[in-house]
Amino acid sequence: MKFELIELREDRIRFLLSGVSAAFANAIRRTCMSEVPILAIDEISLYDNTSVLFDEQIALRLGEVPLVAEELDFLSQPEDCQCDGTGCPGCRVDFMISKEGPGMVYSEDIQFTDPGVRPAFERIPLVVLGEGEKLVMEGYATKRVGKEHSKWNAGTLCGYKNLPSIMIGEACDGCGLCVEVCPRNILVIEEGRAKATNILECSLCKLCIGVCEAAAIDLKPVRDSFVVSIESSGSIPARDLVAKAADEIKIRALDLNAKLTELS
Ligand code: SF4
Ligand code: SF4
Ligand SMILES: [Zn+2]
Repeated sequence: MKFELIELREDRIRFLLSGVSAAFANAIRRTCMSEVPILAIDEISLYDNTSVLFDEQIALRLGEVPLVAEELDFLSQPEDCQCDGTGCPGCRVDFMISKEGPGMVYSEDIQFTDPGVRPAFERIPLVVLGEGEKLVMEGYATKRVGKEHSKWNAGTLCGYKNLPSIMIGEACDGCGLCVEVCPRNILVIEEGRAKATNILECSLCKLCIGVCEAAAIDLKPVRDSFVVSIESSGSIPARDLVAKAADEIKIRALDLNAKLTELS
């Protein structure tokens, strides 16, 4: 397997994986979305809500606020905790909100008891409070995985595509129609012939093939190479997300191997 980094930001990573199957690239994608645990608000108790939103709508919005936890690795998932999931500081982080209008309640108004826990983004609007309207609640966040509920999706936009291969043949007369039609500006005319640039951005839409009367374009996906794009919800950096997903796949592969060894 070959790994080549294309882009690295706090919230996004793109890389080229070569020498792997589509199933492997998909395993990375799915694990980033569904199997890497993060913290999210799980339960709330509302004491006062005179805003325009129903309690359920506020609960839904709170659950989708991405949370950053400095000591995330030290928190247990409830079912793995020594409290057997009944709830303790080892598997829960308490919070409260107490706000009176007029004004907007933002994610930054969620006050956690653990100073190492905070919303990933401070200005996510939750609800507008009119003059004298109140929102008073408490609750707790737990660490779980995205396959249980989308609010624990550590990865949001996660996908992959085959690496495109584009060859322009001798038949090209430089008419430029493919350049005009390409939505990603991949093609240019150089020395009277079309030429592909920045192939990584090609979406394999084949519009260029459709307009080329000379049938000069040979476009195909490279079967064992994939451009993988992973975007984090903001709870953990994208680079760490992929590393944790790889760890998770490795643990499962080793577990399977151990079980198969027992059989032999
Ligand atoms: S449409 Fe075909 S012939 Fe025209 S420039 Fe593109 S590749 Fe060449
Ligand atoms: S397949 Fe689509 S994106 Fe790729 S070069 Fe052709 S027109 Fe552009
Ligand atoms: Zn516990």
